[in-house]
Amino acid sequence: MLGNMQFKDIVGQKDIINRLASVVDGGRVSHAQMLLGDVRETMPLALAWLQYLCCEHPIHYSQGELQADSCGECPSCKKIASLMHPDLHFVFPTAATARVKEKPWSGEFQGEFRDFILQTKGRGNIDDWYDFLGIENKQGLIREMDADAVVSTLGLKAYEGGWRIMVVWMAERMNESFANKLLKTLEEPLPGTLILLLAESDERLLPTIKSRVQTIKVKREGLEVKESDNAEFAELLVGWLRMLFKLKMKELSAQVDKMAGLNREQQKLFLQYAMKVMRGCFLNTAAGVECHIGSGDEKFDSQFPKMITVNNIELIQSAFDDAIFAIERNAYGKIAMMELSFRISKALKKR
Ligand SMILES: [Zn+2]
Repeated sequence: MLGNMQFKDIVGQKDIINRLASVVDGGRVSHAQMLLGDVRETMPLALAWLQYLCCEHPIHYSQGELQADSCGECPSCKKIASLMHPDLHFVFPTAATARVKEKPWSGEFQGEFRDFILQTKGRGNIDDWYDFLGIENKQGLIREMDADAVVSTLGLKAYEGGWRIMVVWMAERMNESFANKLLKTLEEPLPGTLILLLAESDERLLPTIKSRVQTIKVKREGLEVKESDNAEFAELLVGWLRMLFKLKMKELSAQVDKMAGLNREQQKLFLQYAMKVMRGCFLNTAAGVECHIGSGDEKFDSQFPKMITVNNIELIQSAFDDAIFAIERNAYGKIAMMELSFRISKALKKR
């Protein structure tokens, strides 16, 4: 369950959100829009925006950062949040998998895509998607068959009497035949239809497509750790730190499995979070700056920071940097996390 994908759930991006809301309020929604930016940012934005667009009781605020938001309660909001709205459709890159051995296209993977978006809260990128599908050759495409689906789906009457929406996720992965068919649809748009392209780069898109879509650029800003992740991360981190003390291989391995079970982006965020906590511990030892590990165990919280000193902070920092770099470069998460565990464990002994 995506939970509530409302504007208020998005980290940062308040200017874009208010702009998107006013496009809806002013009745200026174009039949072809593009959000250009990191897809881990644009997908949550797109879902919150579409929920607002279709909401039966949108809320308007007279103060605070947000001008408006969807209600999150009406049947339409609930259907969008669970990706079950009959007028909301997705096309996205696919490739052959163990299950779909030939002629892959989005229609074959609707269930998987929905699960992927719900599990990652829309914050997964293309690598995460290929990992999710178990695709090894990472060259997915959006193809002609996907375009046929766009044309026939948008040609139907809307079930709910409102917008019929097609989201094209990672639009730069469209091949030429998809692009040509899409172009025809953009030239003769059907009333009440919205094609929303999400692309990280528009370099590979046809100029004729670019000229027919209204583009909004989305800056990278919402990828920092959210409060809700912090509680989860804190628990994971404390479990891990305890294992590093004892260094019992079997238990450490089980804990590392949990960490490597996060998707790639979450693994990176977790490591950044862990590093931030370590630096906090160091500042506590070196300069008496207060720090909270938040393990729920007072003894651990007061003892652990003392382990991080001027003698090992650099070793710890570089071990984290290397692990984050490895994960960014598509290394196998468990190996990177194990390696990191040994280096940190060794560094802690050098205090
Ligand atoms: Zn609503």
